[in-house]
Amino acid sequence: MAIREILQIGHPILAQRAEEVEEAQIQSPEVQGWIDDMIDTMRAANGAGIAANQMGIAKRLFVLEIADNPRYPYKPKVPLTIAINPTIHFLSAETFVSNEGCLSVPQMRGNVERHVEIAVTYYDRNGQLHEEEVRGYSACTWQHEYDHLDGILFPHRVQDAQSFCSWAVFAEFQQSAYAEHVKSLVAKWGA
Ligand code: ZN
Repeated sequence: MAIREILQIGHPILAQRAEEVEEAQIQSPEVQGWIDDMIDTMRAANGAGIAANQMGIAKRLFVLEIADNPRYPYKPKVPLTIAINPTIHFLSAETFVSNEGCLSVPQMRGNVERHVEIAVTYYDRNGQLHEEEVRGYSACTWQHEYDHLDGILFPHRVQDAQSFCSWAVFAEFQQSAYAEHVKSLVAKWGA
């Protein structure tokens, strides 16, 4: 278990499509070691999730966890999830303007439109296949992490360039209004 360096936007590994993990390899010491390092690295950086390619491993897996997170105090909690070879399918056209940051994009936040009702499939670290529906704010987090596996970072999806801001400016001028915006989403979907 180790905390690894997080690659930054523009790095070629972050910009390419990551490859599927072979199912037979999921329980190998190598893949299990990646997962342990991803969890450690995410927690050490107070991230809400991290994809393997952010640590230089060009494979299709990510971890998510939202506990009491000082980086994202308004986010509803999400238990630790390990998603290997995930798929996402939109269940409705409803979207939410999500203000996002990323461990690979230092000092920057911006608004991205995300779907709020999605169906997902993924393998967990035991090789068990999951099929779930994810709604509300967690669906936004899922899409952010999934995008990493296709080489897409949140700035690539920002349509209103005026929404780019630093974390400090967000905290001073936008966070309280944004927390209300999130609260209304969570009230509707319970997550
Ligand atoms: Zn990210």
